[in-house]
Amino acid sequence: MTNTTIGATHGWRKAAFPALVIGAILLALLGACAEDAAERDERPLVVTTFTILQDFAERVAGEHLRVETIVPIGAEVHEWELSPGNFVDLENASLVFYNGYNIEQWMRQVRTTVGSEVPVIAVAEETGHEPLPIMLGDFEGAADPHLWMDPRKAADYVAVMRDAFIELDPDNSEAYERNASETIELFHDLYDDLHETLAAIPDERRVLITSEAAFLYFADAFGFEHEAIWGTNHEEEGTPDQIVRVVELVRQSDVPVAYYESTMSDRHIRAVAEDTGVRVAGPLYVDSTSGPDGEAPDYPAMLRHNAELLVEHLGR
Ligand SMILES: [Zn+2]
Repeated sequence: MTNTTIGATHGWRKAAFPALVIGAILLALLGACAEDAAERDERPLVVTTFTILQDFAERVAGEHLRVETIVPIGAEVHEWELSPGNFVDLENASLVFYNGYNIEQWMRQVRTTVGSEVPVIAVAEETGHEPLPIMLGDFEGAADPHLWMDPRKAADYVAVMRDAFIELDPDNSEAYERNASETIELFHDLYDDLHETLAAIPDERRVLITSEAAFLYFADAFGFEHEAIWGTNHEEEGTPDQIVRVVELVRQSDVPVAYYESTMSDRHIRAVAEDTGVRVAGPLYVDSTSGPDGEAPDYPAMLRHNAELLVEHLGR
């Protein structure tokens, strides 16, 4: 559309109106361009299954790749149903990262949605670490998936992602190398910092009671005993038998506090507290970050928050 045709259709407003119309059209065009730019983002799309993996992938990708998560902040990774938006992302994905060891019970649907040539990588499994066995419940003995709760193992997730990015986009391999080595160093420093923070908790008080037994790798890395109401979030949660077992454990010990997690209701831990008088604290973050405005906006912040909450209730 040209100035002349607008002027012609609007007769006497020829002088003032065309300028307004053109202004409006320009604004509309600019808006459309901005929208198109987002839709036409030419960068390869990396789909991760939950926010922890998204955090790691974004650190390594820098500005070179687009990274999305399937399970949003605060939602339950063990039992997720793919949303329409998830399907769109998966259809456009150049690479998919999932944790593995069966935490994503819904991976079959992911596999049938992505293109057959798209790499789908189980990052935790690819680190080569021997998994610890789930400690109780219906899945006792199976591999526990929460390896990222040890920052040294999280650093190895980063190395797996780096190699996949270099394969996907060799032109930017230097950036991926650099971003990954910075992140790996950051996670090792985080491990040291957490050790220092947690040193305020005496050995005899290093008992961590939660809803899901999701802290095995954390407990192993930082010298805690770990107990929980149930073994993994994909079994039944908070049955009377499960509650009774933990109530007995708490009664036999002098542990002062039990914690709930950000992705779980606190009612099961509160039930244990009612029967034992143990203090309730939380949330601890394990299967999700808190989002940008929360107390655990990213992975290092999440582990620092957890450590401080442990020190607050278990410290001397
Ligand atoms: Zn979990």
